[in-house]
This record gives sequence, C-alpha cells and structure tokens, in this order.
Amino acid sequence: MAKFATYFLMDSEDVLSYVKEKISFFDENSELECEEIGDGNLNYVYHVVDRLSNKSVIVKQAGDTARISEDIKLSTNRIKIESNVLKMHGELAKGHAPDVYLYDDVMNCCVMEDLSDHTILRDALLEFKTFPKLADHISTFMVQTLLPTTDLVMNHKEKKLQVKEYINPELCEISEDLVYTEPFNDYNNRNELIASNKEWIEREIYGDSELRLEAAKLKFDFMNHAQALIHGDLHTGSLFVTQNSTKVIDPEFAFYGPIGYDVGNVIANLVFALVHGDAYNKKDFVGWAEKTIVEVVDQFIEKFDRYWDEHVTELMAKESGFKEWYLEQVLCDTAGVAGLELTRRIIGLAKVKDITSIEETDARVRAERICLTFAKQLIKVRHAFKTGNVYLQALKQSIQNN
Ligand code: ADP
Ligand code: MG
Repeated sequence: MAKFATYFLMDSEDVLSYVKEKISFFDENSELECEEIGDGNLNYVYHVVDRLSNKSVIVKQAGDTARISEDIKLSTNRIKIESNVLKMHGELAKGHAPDVYLYDDVMNCCVMEDLSDHTILRDALLEFKTFPKLADHISTFMVQTLLPTTDLVMNHKEKKLQVKEYINPELCEISEDLVYTEPFNDYNNRNELIASNKEWIEREIYGDSELRLEAAKLKFDFMNHAQALIHGDLHTGSLFVTQNSTKVIDPEFAFYGPIGYDVGNVIANLVFALVHGDAYNKKDFVGWAEKTIVEVVDQFIEKFDRYWDEHVTELMAKESGFKEWYLEQVLCDTAGVAGLELTRRIIGLAKVKDITSIEETDARVRAERICLTFAKQLIKVRHAFKTGNVYLQALKQSIQNN
C-alpha cells in the first residue's frame, strides 16, 4: 500500500518523502533537509528546505492527541479548518496569510508558505521592537476577514452552511474553559498564581461576584453568537511580522463566533507587550504600544464603517441607526474579551512570556495587577470602551494606581 494512504504521525524523514511525493514545489535534483520547529502545544511543524535553491515550505501536521499530553484527545479535523481558513483569509485579506500549497485529509497535514523571513510578533515585542504598520495591517485584516462572513454581507443560507462546516466543539471547549470559566473559580484546579499575588487575586477576581456574573454573560455570547467566522486565537504568537508585512497564522480555533473575540484578543496582547515594556522602563516602546492600541481600535472602527457602507447587502441592516447599534455591540464584546484575555493569561495555565519573563517579583506583581485592574474595568463597564483613547486613559489609570 502507498506510504501515505493511511494516517500516521510523521517524523522528519517521513516529511521529506512526503513533500517529494505530494508537491511539485521543489526541483528534481533538490537536496532537501527537514527539521521540526513547532513550539506550540498541539501540533507538529516541519521546516523543509532545499540546500541548493534555498526554496522552502512548512508542513504542519495535527496529531490525534495534543503534543503536550497524550491524555488530551483532539479531533484532527482542526487542520482542515486551519487550511480552509488560511485559504479564505488569503483571498479576503490579500497579503496577510501564508499561501496554502496542499491540504491532505488523510495525513491531516497542510503544506504552506514558509514565513521564516518574518518574526513571531510576541518574540519581537519582548525585545522592544516596534512595527509602524501593525495597527493598519491588523485592523484591515480583521475588517476584511470578519465582515464578509456575517449575515450583513453573506447570503443567509450560505452562511448557515458555513456555520455547520466550521463547527469546532473541541477547540471551543478549550476557550470556554480556559478563557471563560477557570480564571473565575479554578474549578479544574489548574490555575497558577504566583505566591505574592495569590491573596490579591483571590479577593479581586474569585471574590468579585459582579465580575463573575459579567464573565458568565460573555461566555454565553461566545457560545451562542454565530456572528462571523472568527480566527479564534488572534494573539501576538499568531502574527508573523516584518517592518512592512503582517501575516496571520494558526487559525485552528476558527468557528462562527463574536467578532469582538478577535479584536479583543489583539488589544489584550498589545497591552501585555506594553506592560512588559513598562516593567523595564522602555519609554519609547511604551509610547509606540500606546499609539498602536489606540490606532487598532480607531482604525478598526473607521474601516468597519467604510466597509459597511460599501458592502452590506442585508436590507434590514440598512435601516437608519442599525450600523451604529451593531458596531456598539461589537465594541462592547471587544472590551469584554480584552478583559477576559488579560485575566486568563495571568491566572490560568496558558501564560504569556510578556508577563512571566518579568523576573523581579515586585515588578511582576505590579504588572499582573495593572493588567487585572484594567481587565476588571473592561469586563464590567465594557459598553464605555468606544474609542482608542478611552482604552488608553483607563490603562494609564491602572498603571498609575498600581
Ligand atoms: P500550534 O498550532 O501548534 O501552536 P503554530 O501554527 O502556532 O502551531 O506554529 C508553531 C510555530 O511554528 C510558530 O510559532 C512558528 O515558529 C512556526 N511556524 C508555523 N507556521 C509557520 C510558517 N508558515 N512559516 C514559518 N514558521 C512557521
Ligand atoms: Mg495553535
């Protein structure tokens, strides 16, 4: 039987024969090398390069258990979702997604463009590097990928078929637990609090019943609001950047959910970068991060508005005042989700390096409290966050008060 006719988890040697057999990307006489470069929790990522021509590809394969733990069983369907969404993103937001060369539903892998000339944004931000076009690029990406998949623009029957196609129960469950539940009650006993902040967090987060109620409302919005095909994991580790280019990878959490989930994640992860810069007193970097957060919000609103006027087809959505009402809901969700992301990355088990790399205990405690104080406001008075400047003022207040 042919080697790749039934699924198995490939090693580097297998991946070499795989690309030789399956794609015509490389020359006949190429000298291929292959290395596993994945750093995530779930999948295997191989870099394949031809020593002679320097041409290269990435092969990403999903296992039926997570690579961090054999106990976590996951459907390999996520790589199909990822491949299809990457292709769709490439069409909707030109230049902002890697090209997909092949999706293989037997081997549960996908061959895509190698973006090794880019850097993972989180790593670059940890070194206080700045990216002048980031706000412009990411706001464009979000408007151009999110709005076309709503009922505002898409044919309603087509959209319902899409909702079905992108049903993603296992990965949604991860978010429902890690983002929307555990940070508020530790019901799975796997939150990780640093000793010096434990009491403060138990009082300010677990002990805040008003906050928990708002988180519960947001959880049901996430589970029941099939608004648009969202990326679902749009943090700074899913962005590949250079000074002139921004590419979005890893959309395996995609499903039809609230638009604010993506926008809120981008904002929260920029806040982590800013707070990290503040801890090391990097004034220029903090200034850039402030400006970028404001621009992401304001440019998202501006581009949303323009896209709406040019593309909305649903008749009832053209009623006067509907656009403003709709956008207000999106912004309200955005603030709520930004607050949830800030909370869960500090309290829950999936941390961010921006915070964990702060070595000095007092500085770490302060950074965590800045994020959590800001987060509480974002969640509780989320309807108030309607412009970039409102975010900035509230964040500055949290920095001053901690
Ligand atoms: P996971 O889903 O397991 O988190 P990711 O898609 O985030 O996997 O990829 C893990 C790592 O592999 C990334 O942080 C990056 O270093 C590398 N990687 C992924 N896709 C590409 C690509 N298209 N080009 C270059 N490197 C990539
Ligand atoms: Mg991933």
